[in-house]
Amino acid sequence: MIQNSGSPGVHRLWLLAILLLGLPSYASAAGNAACAESGVVLQVLGSGGPIADDGRASSGYLVWVDGKSRFLIDTGGGVFLRFAEAGGNFSELDAIGISHFHADHSADLIALLKSGNFANRERSLPISGPAGDGPFPGLHDYLNSLLNKDTGAYAYLNGYLDGSGILPKLEQTEIDPDTSKAVTVFSDAESDTHIQAMYVPHGIVPAIAYRIQIGDKSIVFASDQNGSSEEFLNFAIDASVLVMHMPVPEGVSGVGRALHAPPSVIGEIAATADIDTLVLSHFMARSLSNFAANLVIVHSEFDGPVIVADDLDCIAVGN
Ligand SMILES: [Zn+2]
Repeated sequence: MIQNSGSPGVHRLWLLAILLLGLPSYASAAGNAACAESGVVLQVLGSGGPIADDGRASSGYLVWVDGKSRFLIDTGGGVFLRFAEAGGNFSELDAIGISHFHADHSADLIALLKSGNFANRERSLPISGPAGDGPFPGLHDYLNSLLNKDTGAYAYLNGYLDGSGILPKLEQTEIDPDTSKAVTVFSDAESDTHIQAMYVPHGIVPAIAYRIQIGDKSIVFASDQNGSSEEFLNFAIDASVLVMHMPVPEGVSGVGRALHAPPSVIGEIAATADIDTLVLSHFMARSLSNFAANLVIVHSEFDGPVIVADDLDCIAVGN
């Protein structure tokens, strides 16, 4: 059921460079078939960033539990297509988490909701996201701009706001901007599954990291962030898998540094939080132009396994 897109191009070149140069190795993601198996599996839907130059979808991740596609984190451009390629099922989703309202993390949400229009789903769908600030909307305003029955761009899908018609209601959790602590946005005692969220520093953009805890297995999605949050180290502590975005190289400055963590900081976070497996993601062609050297820097700080994400990769969690 799972097909790998096998995205071609320049990002393969550093793999060859690493092999030829004998630089530190990285762990391979499991084959896509792993996603259909039992246990907890992270599938990368979009390993790309905001620039459409390397065949990757923008940010998106699907968490499989015992063969069911239960949690979706981020819905950047291209995630609509990757969700289908992955075999994702809208009716199986227990929650959607949006990390922030940069387009490369949110633009395909409406496309996925339209697809869900045909899923005959009756139970409501929890969705969480940040509060608004400056030019960035909060979750409520974002959904209202799309779905309001009078002013929404897609007013014909208004039923998602109140559960009317044949659409399931979106149960919205907009995370309090005044909290610096983690908050629980989803909890299911029966399956011992809990999702926590906390704000992370991403320039002026309100941005949320998520931690999905399923029994003793945990995945932390760091989102876009500059790595300066002490609280995030506690949030990520002992995670089975930590997904960090590495679109910028070592030595980045200015706006790029205010928005994103360089490789050394990513490695330090992984080591300090004592996570098991580090997944690097959010690449564009320019992110990969000197990637082997940046990967060496990550390895110099963190000596655990590092997986370099590609679209549709499946990563077994806690095995
Ligand atoms: Zn961003």
